[in-house]
Amino acid sequence: MSAVAALSYLVASVLFMSGLKMLSSPKTARKGNISASLGMLIAIVVTLTDEKILDYTFILAGLLTGSAVGVWFALRVQMTAMPQLVGVLNGFGGGASALVAFAEYIRISGDASLSVWTGDAPLDVLITLVLSILIGTVTIVGSMIASAKLHGVMRSAPILYPFQKQTNAAILVAAIVLGVLFVFDPSRWYLLVIIAGLAAILGVTSVIPIGGADMPVVISLMNSYSGLAGAMTGFVLSNNVLIISGTLVGTSGIILTNIMCKAMNRSLANVLFAGVGAEYDPSVQAVEQRTVIRYTPEDAATILESAQSVIIVPGYGLAVAQAQHALQELVNILTAKGMLVRYAIHPVAGRMPGHMNVLLAEANAPYDILMEMDQINDDFQNTDVALVIGANDVVNPAARYKKDSPLYGMPILNVDHARTVMVCKRSLNPGFAGEDNELFYNEKTMMVFGDAKETVTKLVQLMKS
Ligand code: NDP
Repeated sequence: MSAVAALSYLVASVLFMSGLKMLSSPKTARKGNISASLGMLIAIVVTLTDEKILDYTFILAGLLTGSAVGVWFALRVQMTAMPQLVGVLNGFGGGASALVAFAEYIRISGDASLSVWTGDAPLDVLITLVLSILIGTVTIVGSMIASAKLHGVMRSAPILYPFQKQTNAAILVAAIVLGVLFVFDPSRWYLLVIIAGLAAILGVTSVIPIGGADMPVVISLMNSYSGLAGAMTGFVLSNNVLIISGTLVGTSGIILTNIMCKAMNRSLANVLFAGVGAEYDPSVQAVEQRTVIRYTPEDAATILESAQSVIIVPGYGLAVAQAQHALQELVNILTAKGMLVRYAIHPVAGRMPGHMNVLLAEANAPYDILMEMDQINDDFQNTDVALVIGANDVVNPAARYKKDSPLYGMPILNVDHARTVMVCKRSLNPGFAGEDNELFYNEKTMMVFGDAKETVTKLVQLMKS
């Protein structure tokens, strides 16, 4: 590799790292995205100028096809289906790593028909080649299953069968044993094919026992795997920028997975192996006999008018309704009236980490009023109105006491500690976890039924007048 290429890869790697660092705060996230994108552009351009490339035909075809598919996805996929899309993209990353590793094997074998092995590959290349194919294939298949579950095209409840963990462990051990046999005799290319087959089975059998509610965690884990597969392929190709970027994806993915598990008060082992949600059937919950009192936006506006402090809790419904702009307009009006208004962001509100931050950033919500759960949870007790917009599970008190609930143990936002709670959603339907919400029947709760955008827009009009 030329010194210029090596230096450019170094610059790209630094841009990736500074980008990741900046992504950790909503204030700097946009700059972080640009920094990481610039790094990727540099890495791609430098790689494309490699003098070993003899023919650009396939590269161009891949570039055009990939760009067309990317543009199609970007235009068609709804914001609410973003987690599935991320899952599919992770899967493609893992699959690409496995394919590149296999292609590199064909190159080093010295015979494209694979009938004779005249290659001379060092041990580390052979080991990382096996790992790349193994992890990459688990990633693509596992990610597709996770995305299918999230998208509702596959049964979302855990699919359990006897000796599940043992079967998975046996498949993994068999793949590793075959990998060792391959490393001893790399002419046996068919072992790589069998390893890929076992990895594909493992991708299915390790994800189907996990319930749909835990799929975003699985997708984050698969993201980490895709990074690991990329890093392994980087070793196979001796490509530094691929090793570094793959490692960054691998580690940040596992950190994110850990953050999500903590936010749900679960361990990763519990998410992966406990089959949570298998026995839980929301349809057999006791039918709620109590009634709630329906309030109009006019009633809500009257209460808001006399409030001094308001904490807004956004949730998935805000994203569905695309009510973020109207909501921020309401915040501006309330603030102009001298009220203390803040947003309380639960770490798993919405359907992907940072979902609410992204939505609110789009609506230009000031960063200094976006409060994380730990920062604001104690303030609800001194707050006049907790305004819940399209959130449900993240404010469900069942998480505190109902042991058989899928939400049990998850830290929630203490909206019920506020003097008045206003909940804006379309019905009494449960949220993602399928758990009925006691909060709706609380005597200090005002249910304002309707689409979040319509209700908030109405509130804006009323507050203006
Ligand atoms: P929920 O899924 O609990 O609730 C969203 C609510 O929004 C629904 O009850 C729905 O009620 C309401 N809603 C839907 N559309 C509209 C609309 N147009 N207008 C008004 N309301 C609407 O969301 P939360 O954000 O409270 O909780 C997130 C859930 O996702 C948690 O269970 C969390 O564990 C899970 N999850 C999230 C992850 C993440 O990274 N963010 C990761 C893993 C899991 P109705 O139909 O009555 O309107």
